[in-house]
Amino acid sequence: MIQNFQGMARKLADKLRAEGITNAAVLDVIQSTPRHLFMPESLAHKAYENTALPIGQGQTISQPLMVASMTQLLMQHHCQKVLEIGTGSGYQTAILAQLVNHVYSVERIAELQYQAKRRLKKLDLHNVSMRHGDGWQGWASKAPFDGIIVTAAASSMPMELLQQLTDGGVMVIPVGTTIQRLIVVRRFGDEFEQKELGEVKFVPLVPGATI
Ligand code: SAH
Repeated sequence: MIQNFQGMARKLADKLRAEGITNAAVLDVIQSTPRHLFMPESLAHKAYENTALPIGQGQTISQPLMVASMTQLLMQHHCQKVLEIGTGSGYQTAILAQLVNHVYSVERIAELQYQAKRRLKKLDLHNVSMRHGDGWQGWASKAPFDGIIVTAAASSMPMELLQQLTDGGVMVIPVGTTIQRLIVVRRFGDEFEQKELGEVKFVPLVPGATI
């Protein structure tokens, strides 16, 4: 059992600052969010290390530096209505929910979604809507979104997600198979501008049906 996570979370935030995260609001939220509640208890002692960790079903809770970088990017674009693909543990969802108006999050594994929902409720984060389904399809009935964050690597750019961005909206997404790169896409009317941010490592965005 972790009794006092604040000290450890502060050290994690310090480490992320040293790694180049500059957004104070993002660092504050990382410092006050109990990451150890988003993983199996047997791994909780590693929760404040800057590493990805297994959360069951072959999936992982993303590395804190990646969560912070992607969140900072959405904050730079003042996103307020965000679609997240790949709820997983719900940790990235929880960070976003404390920074934007509303988070819509899609997960294909029902069991993970159920656990994430419970954790967010426990933390009193109610500005989150969750859907069990295929993230490649986004969430058309709630679109458009001014920010989209994909936390699993797509083999190619998901066209349906691009269509669900507002004009001026931004999407951050890892794309690739053997080699994955973090891509930032901005929409300007019917034009999409892409920027590449470097190599990353995520679990794959699985095609199709849900389980
Ligand atoms: N942000 C999460 C990352 C979890 S790993 C966290 O930090 O905990 C990526 C998640 O994407 C997994 O839970 C996986 O089940 C989910 N995923 C993979 N393919 C998907 C798809 N097509 N649709 C929805 N979710 C998907």
